[in-house]
Amino acid sequence: MNDKQASVDVVIVGAGFAGMYLLYRLRQLGMTAQVLEMGDNVGGTWYWNRYPGARCDAESLAYSYSFSAELEQEWQWTERYATQPEILQYAEHVADRFDLKRDILFNQKVTSAVYDQSRNEWHVLTEQGHEARGHFCVMATGCLSVPQLPAIEGVTDFQGPRYQASLWPHDGVDFSGQTVGIIGTGSSGIQAIPVIAEQAKHLYVFQRTPNYSVPAVNGPLDAQWVEQFKQNYREHRRYHKLGLSSGFGDLEIEPVERTPAAESAADLSDEQINEILEARWQRGGAFFLGAFADALANPDTNKKCANFVRNKIRTIVKDPATAELLCPKDHPIGTKRICVDTGYYETYNRDNVTLVDVRSDPIQRITATGLQTQSHAYDFDTLVLATGFDAMTGALLGMDIRGEGGAKLADKWAEGPKTYLGLAVNGFPNLFTVTGPGSPSVLSNVLVSIEQHIDWIVDCMQYMQGNGYARVDADVSAQEQWTAHVTEVASATLFPQGGSWYLGANVAGKPRVFMPYAAGVGAYREVCDAVTADGYRGFEFS
Ligand code: NAP
Repeated sequence: MNDKQASVDVVIVGAGFAGMYLLYRLRQLGMTAQVLEMGDNVGGTWYWNRYPGARCDAESLAYSYSFSAELEQEWQWTERYATQPEILQYAEHVADRFDLKRDILFNQKVTSAVYDQSRNEWHVLTEQGHEARGHFCVMATGCLSVPQLPAIEGVTDFQGPRYQASLWPHDGVDFSGQTVGIIGTGSSGIQAIPVIAEQAKHLYVFQRTPNYSVPAVNGPLDAQWVEQFKQNYREHRRYHKLGLSSGFGDLEIEPVERTPAAESAADLSDEQINEILEARWQRGGAFFLGAFADALANPDTNKKCANFVRNKIRTIVKDPATAELLCPKDHPIGTKRICVDTGYYETYNRDNVTLVDVRSDPIQRITATGLQTQSHAYDFDTLVLATGFDAMTGALLGMDIRGEGGAKLADKWAEGPKTYLGLAVNGFPNLFTVTGPGSPSVLSNVLVSIEQHIDWIVDCMQYMQGNGYARVDADVSAQEQWTAHVTEVASATLFPQGGSWYLGANVAGKPRVFMPYAAGVGAYREVCDAVTADGYRGFEFS
C-alpha cells in the first residue's frame, strides 16, 4: 500500500462510527481494508459539526458502541447527553484502543467509485489522486454529511465572517461583543442559539419554520448511578437492539424494554393526557412522543401532543407574539425530527435576542453587511448558517458511483433512491451502504443501526467466502418490493406530512421519497435475520 494506490479486500468510504466498526470487524476476520476519510481525523459527523452547543440527542450510555464489553465499561461519559467534543474524544479513543488509524487514509475526498466488471473489483478514486481497489466497497458515508447552503441570493456577498454549523472552525468562534445573525431553526440552530445568545451583543434569529423542541434535562451523570447501570449494560443493549424504541436508551437502572406506551391518547381524558406528557417533559429527551402508541399515526393523538408543546412554549416565552411565532403549526409533531434543547425557548426572554419571522417577511438577499427581507434591512457582524443537509443520499450521489455496465447510481436514483434493505443496490455488485435509504438509519439510534448493518454485511462476506462466491448483487424484484414496503410503512404514519429532509423536501429538485424505514430497529433486524436464514433471500450470488 502506498500513498497513491492500495489494493485491499474492502475499500471503506468514511471513518465515522460505521467505517471504524467495519474496519475493526474485518481485521478480526483477517480481511484487509483501507478507509478513505475526507477529514484529518475520525468521528464523521462529530468531526465536522463543532458549532456551539453541539450535543447528541440520544443518551450517552446508549449512543455508543456495544461491540466491546471492555470498552463500554472503561469509557466514562460525563453527561446524560454527550457534548460534541466528548463524542469526538470517544471516537478517537476507540480508534487508538483498537489501533484503527493505520488503515485509515485521512484528507482524502472520494470522487468516484467504479465497478470493474472484468476484475470484479471496485476502483475508488479521491480528489487527492489516491486510488483504492477492493473486492468490496462499503459506503460508510453517513446520512447528514453534506451541508446545504441556503438558496438565498447573495449568500457569498456577506463581508463579515460567515460560519456554517456543519463546517465549524476547529478552534471555535468568540461572539463576544458582536451582533450575530443566524438562519436556521432545526436541531443545529436550536442547540446553537442559546449558547451564541449568551456571548453575543445581539442575536437575530431568522426563522422560516418553527420546530417542536423538548427539553433535554441534561446534567452530569452520577457515578454511582452509572456504575449500577453498567452492571446490566449487556441487558440494556439487548433491549436497545430488539425493542420498539428505535434503539434509544433509558434512564432506568433496571433494563426495561423501552417501548411506546400501549394506549392511545384517544381513550384518555385531557387531564390524564397532560399528566402523562408532563411527566415526559420533566424527564426530558426525544422519547417524549413515546407517551402514546399512536402519536405518529393518529392525527388526534398527535394534535394533543403538539398542543401540549405549544402550550409549554406559550408558558415559557414571555412575549405572546414571539411565543406564537415559535409555535409550530404547519406539521404534525415528530414528522420532522423533534429537537432536544437546553434553554431554547427561554432564550427568547433575553433582551439581546430578536426573533425575525422570515415566513411572513421573506429574505430577499444577503447583503455585504447583513440581510434584506421584503420590508427590513438587518445589519450584523457575523452570519451563522444552520441550514441543514442534503440528507441520506447527498453523500452517495455526490460521488460518481458506477456499477455494472458503467450504469450511474445518480441515474438509477433519478426518481428517488431504491435499495434492498437499505444495504445494497441492484446493478452495483459487492457494494454495500450503511444506514442508507431504506434502513431505519436516521429514525433510530444510529449507533445501534450501524452495528447491526455492519454485522450483517460482514456475515454476508463470510458466507460468500465459505461458499466460494465472489459476487453478490441485490435482486431487482427484491429491491422493488423493499422500496415499496418502506413507502407503505411510512404511509401508515403521519411522517409523509412533515415536509422534512426525511423526504428530501429541504433540497430543491430532490425527489420526494420517504427514505428511512419507519418500522423500528427490532422489526428491521428480524427482516434482515430472516433474509439470512432463508439463504440470503433476494440476493444473487455467483
Ligand atoms: P434542518 O433540520 O434541516 O434545519 C435547517 C433549518 O434551516 C430549517 O429551520 C430551515 O427552515 C432553515 N433554512 C434552510 N434554508 C433556508 C432559507 N433559504 N431561508 C430560511 N431558512 C432556511 O437542519 P439541522 O438543524 O442541521 O438538522 C438536521 C438533522 O441533523 C436533524 O434533524 C438531526 O437529525 C441532526 N442533528 C442532530 C443533532 C443532535 O443529535 N442533537 C444536532 C444537530 C443536527 P425550513 O424548515 O423553513 O426549511
